Amino acid sequence: MTHPAKPTASHFINGAYVEDTSGTPIPVIYAATGEEITKVYAATPAIVEQALASAKAAQSAWAKMTGTERGRILRRAADIMRERNHDLSVLETYDTGKPLQETLVADATSGADALEYFGGLAGSLTGEHIPLGEDWVYTVREALGVCVGIGAWNYPTQIACWKGAPALACGNSMVFKPSETTPLCALKVAEILHEAGLPAGVFNVVQGMGEVGGALVTDPRVDKVSLTGSVPTGKKVYAAAAEGMKHVTMELGGKSPMIVFDDADIDNAVGGAINGNFYSSGQVCSNGTRVFVQKGIKEKFLARLAERVGNAVMGDPMDEATSFGPMVTKNQMNIVLGYIEKGKAEGARLICGGNRADQSGWFIEPTVFADVTDDMTIAREEIFGPVMSVLDFDTEEEVVARANDTEFGLSAGVFTKDFTRAHRVIGNLEAGSCFINSYNDAPVEAPFGGVKASGVGRENSKEAIKNFSQVKSVYVRMGDVEAAF
Ligand code: NAD
Repeated sequence: MTHPAKPTASHFINGAYVEDTSGTPIPVIYAATGEEITKVYAATPAIVEQALASAKAAQSAWAKMTGTERGRILRRAADIMRERNHDLSVLETYDTGKPLQETLVADATSGADALEYFGGLAGSLTGEHIPLGEDWVYTVREALGVCVGIGAWNYPTQIACWKGAPALACGNSMVFKPSETTPLCALKVAEILHEAGLPAGVFNVVQGMGEVGGALVTDPRVDKVSLTGSVPTGKKVYAAAAEGMKHVTMELGGKSPMIVFDDADIDNAVGGAINGNFYSSGQVCSNGTRVFVQKGIKEKFLARLAERVGNAVMGDPMDEATSFGPMVTKNQMNIVLGYIEKGKAEGARLICGGNRADQSGWFIEPTVFADVTDDMTIAREEIFGPVMSVLDFDTEEEVVARANDTEFGLSAGVFTKDFTRAHRVIGNLEAGSCFINSYNDAPVEAPFGGVKASGVGRENSKEAIKNFSQVKSVYVRMGDVEAAF
């Protein structure tokens, strides 16, 4: 792979690229062709040590800078990311296989939004003054210390920025471990932050599989762990963090409901279902993969859906006309194909798709099943691929109960023209990130995260500040101290 934005080594530590080829090689496979385009090396214990020691050493001086100074660096990094959006988007496409049509508008741009937003907030982080007669209490919002970020493979640039930007705005330092499947983009985030003036050691990137993540999570110097990944990994990382009483943010999986009432605008609902199931080839945690459609409009909805899904353009992700890309890996493709077979075997009605596409790379056709019932595997488990399940319902009360009947609680959406009902239904759904007459919008200004098994804590918005800082409270006595003896 020759590309101007290709990172020059596996790790980024203490302000510079670092290589150590004694680590386990990790091939980077381009999902659209199956070819190895480059490789990185997993961090050895020595590399992990270097990264943690750098983060620890840099943190207190970074926290002592004013918020405005920290914010200026983050905002400068946002500008650089926007200027280089095209190159960074091509790199994101190499890393993930997602079509350039998407990466040009959803990855470096979303990362830049986070850097700009948290850069802007950094100077406004203050405490409170609490009067108590003559005495008073004041509070100070302080950094947590050294934070670890661990990423999933679907949004490598965005995840690094969604974790790094609020962490750094609050005065923390970070060691970020990208997914071993998509190791390249986070390195560019580190490089750009340093180009923007970030002091060495404040944001470091190391590569590796779960064991490198595990070594970071259990290190006593680490104060906080923010993970984006699956529920099983989340349980392990949460438990390991609890051993050291560390703060956590867990952004995990979902099996989110999207509810379409029969008064909904059909094209908007179909558009929402397409965005909530086929964007990034379905590899989005908040996807509304259980589409509940009220019986009165079911066949009309399915007909329009099949027609519009037929317009998907599958092919070379670097061609901006392509609107639907491959699965990130062969393994993920096989997992998803296995779910499709289960859907067929358990009696769901295949409306469209259902097969691996006849071309090189890990492509699966966008797939819609109808007549899906609550007990089917495809309606219960997170598939993380382009497989939509359409389920029927009669009443509001019934659909709310069925929508909530899952261990997950990341997102939920409702399509209806009846706004009273829309708010009532959303109020009764167990989910962290919800949508009315829309699906999967994730602006940096809005909190993002799940309830139940889908996670703990929130990313983005002012909520993320709370999740990357702590409050010190100081009682100030003006008079004498009274004591019993
Ligand atoms: P994964 O859980 O397999 O891996 C996530 C990360 O955790 C990787 O970097 C991996 O190396 C690391 N890891 C694995 N075991 C570890 C351990 N024991 N200790 C520390 N780190 C460990 O997830 P994935 O397959 O990369 O991503 C897909 C999953 O991520 C899906 O479930 C999806 O829903 C979820 N996801 C959630 C969000 C969100 O914001 N809620 C966003 C994207 C993806």
